[in-house]
Amino acid sequence: MDKYGVLNKYYGYSNFRDGQEEIIDAILIGRDALAIMPTGGGKSLCYQIPAMLMPGITVVVSPLISLMKDQVMALKNIGIPAAYINSTLTYEQHIKVYNNLKNGVYKIVYVAPERLDTEGFADLASELDISLIAVDEAHCISQWGQDFRPSYLKIVDFMLHLRKRPVIAAFTATATQTVRDDISNILKLSNPINITTGFDRPNLNFEVITPKNKLKEIHHILLEHQGKSGIIYCATRNNVEKVCDELQLLGLSVTRYHAGLKDSERKQNQEDFIYDKRQIMVATNAFGMGINKSNVSFVIHYNMPLSLEAYYQEAGRAGRDGEPADCILLFGIGDVATATRLLQIPGSNDELTEAQREELSIRDLSRLNKMIDYCKTTKCLRGEILEHFGQAHAQRCENCGNCRTQFKWRDITTEAQMVLSCVKRLYTKLGYYTGKGTVVNTLHGSKSSRLLDLGIDEIKTYGIMSSVPTMQIRELIDYLEDNEYLYTDTLYKTIRLTDKAKEILFDNKHIEMPYKDMPKNKKVRTNTFSVEQYLKTDENLYEVLRQLRYEISQRENIPAYIVFSNASLKDMSSKKPTTYEEFLNVTGVGEVKAERYGEEFIKAVKTYMKS
Ligand code: ADP
Repeated sequence: MDKYGVLNKYYGYSNFRDGQEEIIDAILIGRDALAIMPTGGGKSLCYQIPAMLMPGITVVVSPLISLMKDQVMALKNIGIPAAYINSTLTYEQHIKVYNNLKNGVYKIVYVAPERLDTEGFADLASELDISLIAVDEAHCISQWGQDFRPSYLKIVDFMLHLRKRPVIAAFTATATQTVRDDISNILKLSNPINITTGFDRPNLNFEVITPKNKLKEIHHILLEHQGKSGIIYCATRNNVEKVCDELQLLGLSVTRYHAGLKDSERKQNQEDFIYDKRQIMVATNAFGMGINKSNVSFVIHYNMPLSLEAYYQEAGRAGRDGEPADCILLFGIGDVATATRLLQIPGSNDELTEAQREELSIRDLSRLNKMIDYCKTTKCLRGEILEHFGQAHAQRCENCGNCRTQFKWRDITTEAQMVLSCVKRLYTKLGYYTGKGTVVNTLHGSKSSRLLDLGIDEIKTYGIMSSVPTMQIRELIDYLEDNEYLYTDTLYKTIRLTDKAKEILFDNKHIEMPYKDMPKNKKVRTNTFSVEQYLKTDENLYEVLRQLRYEISQRENIPAYIVFSNASLKDMSSKKPTTYEEFLNVTGVGEVKAERYGEEFIKAVKTYMKS
């Protein structure tokens, strides 16, 4: 059998995705590989297919236990013998896996990095015929990656103790040059093939909304996504609790995840989400790494994350099955302050020197600023993301909130004069500059005792914008700052005029600001992608098949997406297979799954067609 044979027989797919074939070919001729592919890009197949075609066994080093369990479950379900070794196995299970390994039962074994240097495993490994070591989430080996794990360094020693050096293939979705170099150097990759497929995820629709009331907006979004699985990320545990409680009160199928919960509760909530017992997961960023759930249809950010890297990783958990999915960020003025505060909490990584810490903190601040820019931009959102990752892109993608929104321009010269003049007068009155909050409150005419005690109500611009909502005043100030009429002193966090401000204050220069008109098609966020497939899909049959998938997943105690992905169900509901051969033609249906589930699904299709 060749690589196409494996792709078709086991996975039920007929074509390789971008980059997969090159990586597989390289590994098969014994060449190392470094592959940078986005989440959902199909990294697993790049080592699983060679594993089936090479002699002996493939060892996959993976950081997260939940991911291993998931992958092994999915492999077994398509007929590939696989196992995992990590701390969750009982002594008896360990012995069984070790014996099977010795007897050559498995083609693939997933191992947690901490296990690599344990005596039992290292000894066993030296007796095994290991053809390939696949290092998943390879960025964990670099101090400069998002998630440095010292245990990843054990891979190097582990390799040294093997009888022969296997092919090494490293995979990650993050890709700065420093991290890439680190992976290559530390793992001592020898003349590796370097593949970086695009970062673009065309099936994801990006959107930034600045709602007056975030909870109401979430409710509105959830109404549009009824019956679908999704994640709502919040910056803090408190927000997770608040949002989760609120949605529970509305009777929605929701659960939560954050570091403050007991281990057992976290585990249960995660399983409820993965097994589709709860549809919505409200979580901090503690949730997600290693979650392979492919049928997540939307990811909402209740708060702005700290970097575009983090945002893309979290939002990217939507639509792994290639189906249209929405990534919606709710931006509010408080988010910048919350994010700045979170950045100041010292990290747990005590392996860094003071100088490295300093360097990282400068890097973090610049990442936060890029994130803020993304929230405020009127340009194509996908373009902004791809630009950030250094990838060429079209000016407009036509599948993001900004491309679907018509921006209009409004003359704001008078308001700008009021704001700038207020900053100037506050300084004259007090003898020092103030923060943005004081400027907003002064313009709005706040009656707070702090302002009144300082005599701020005596200055001419006090209350001059009393009819404008404070949020809008804040936006105006931000816009003037973005356009360099104001700047924030980073040390004192006070807002000051720049030289350019004179042009508006004294030279009567006109200034305009873009504002969003109603999105052209706000209601149909995800419909812009794969319209043809939507037209072909029989929605009623899809629901019938979805219900059947759910019943099977309960019966077999595996997540629904491991039975079949949404993409498979969509294809099934458009092809309406009534014979075994037709069933095999559905994407994602390989021989083992056809044997296992064919009869039930074909029967469901036939019954539906007769009704
Ligand atoms: P990654 O590890 O890169 O995030 P996965 O390997 O989990 O991505 O793949 C994401 C999804 O894409 C899985 O459901 C997988 O079965 C599917 N997939 C991978 N390769 C192909 C392909 N060539 N054709 C169709 N679907 C694919």
